[in-house]
Amino acid sequence: MKRRKLLKSLSVLPLAGTIGTLHAAPPKKRDVIKELGIRTFINAAGTLTYMSGCIMDEEVVATIEHTSGHFCMIDEVQDKVGEKIAQLVHSEAAMVTCGAFSAMTLGLAGVLTGNDVRKVEQLPHPAENGMKSEVICQKSHNERYNHAFLNTGCRVIEVETVEDLENAISEKTALLHFLNITANQGKIKHEEWIALGKKHNIPTSIDIAADVPPVSNLWKFNNMGFDMVFISGGKAIRGPQSAGILMGKKNIITAARLNAPPRGFTVARGHKVNKEEILGMYVALEKFVSADHDKEWKMWERKIAVIENAVKSIPGISTKITIPELGNITPTLTVAWDDKLIRLTGRQLRDKLRFGNPSIEAGFSGLPLYHYQAGSDSVDPAVAETLKGGNLIRLTAWMLQPGEEKIVADRLKEELTAASGS
Ligand SMILES: *Cc1c(COP(=O)(O)O)cnc(C)c1O
Repeated sequence: MKRRKLLKSLSVLPLAGTIGTLHAAPPKKRDVIKELGIRTFINAAGTLTYMSGCIMDEEVVATIEHTSGHFCMIDEVQDKVGEKIAQLVHSEAAMVTCGAFSAMTLGLAGVLTGNDVRKVEQLPHPAENGMKSEVICQKSHNERYNHAFLNTGCRVIEVETVEDLENAISEKTALLHFLNITANQGKIKHEEWIALGKKHNIPTSIDIAADVPPVSNLWKFNNMGFDMVFISGGKAIRGPQSAGILMGKKNIITAARLNAPPRGFTVARGHKVNKEEILGMYVALEKFVSADHDKEWKMWERKIAVIENAVKSIPGISTKITIPELGNITPTLTVAWDDKLIRLTGRQLRDKLRFGNPSIEAGFSGLPLYHYQAGSDSVDPAVAETLKGGNLIRLTAWMLQPGEEKIVADRLKEELTAASGS
């Protein structure tokens, strides 16, 4: 497209000699993945960061390609995109961050500094400089991603009951944070959390990083009254993997922007998002909001059924399709087996699929899908035992490209049949 544009502009030039050189063959597309010998694979596991998340929507890729040929002022890009995103998600304001994690750091930084540029430069030392310095969340909501808050210099305080919370609140409290994926584990539910924030005049936030579909979650928590909502761009929304969205109250977003690139001397200078990805994120979100989600869901079910049907009649196999209640909400197939009939561990089967041709990644442990995002097969001794795999693997269809369900079904059947010795 760029080449065509170039030709067009050159064709009005009188220098015929210059044009001649343009008829040379276009440079051959370089296959750098192949060149470096990087393994690519069919992703039947899910939207996992360590597996590079998702395949971006074609329109997102086209947006990135097109916008890369122009200079823009980053603040203007964020202003215009932020306004559009805010409309789509029913928030007062929004900005593109480099992931949900970045949105957490930036949002909290905004709460701490307000529009005071001197305070922006004083982070990550909020307590020493007269700023608030504590975030409160429920114990079951203190997942590792809350590390994002520590980057501002704040501490995270855990509570379990409303009484705990009210005792923990002080003049140091900056934020009351909620994790949607463990909403059913805490004693305090969404609405009560928001009400407690309002009662004590402390902003509330929620991490919904992996919580679409349903698409309505994009606006549900803004409508409910959370002051800030954090979401990933490169999971089910299929935007750039290194993008996310901070949505919420206008005063907080404005202050968060002061802590974000293009400004330096901030804790979040490293959270740079280029214009291509800011605009790509916007296009991804717009497409996601207007997509036919019922149709897509039926497609996932159809693909999962193809895989299930290929293996369910093998002696010793049992299959089950479940839909996680919270987070990564997509039909999820568990294939389990009697190890007296099929001589494999979950991990061995996972490896056979991984090192087969074509390579396939499947979820394999007894842990919920969420937990093996850690990506480490053996690092954490607490989970190492479970990671031996039990006698099951888990599969999802939402990251499969057209036709790949058939390949996964065939390979799975092949390995399970071979191990059943029948
Ligand atoms: C993925 C995830 C994050 C981190 O999101 P990024 O967009 O990768 O920064 C945070 N919280 C939860 C619950 C997640 O699932």
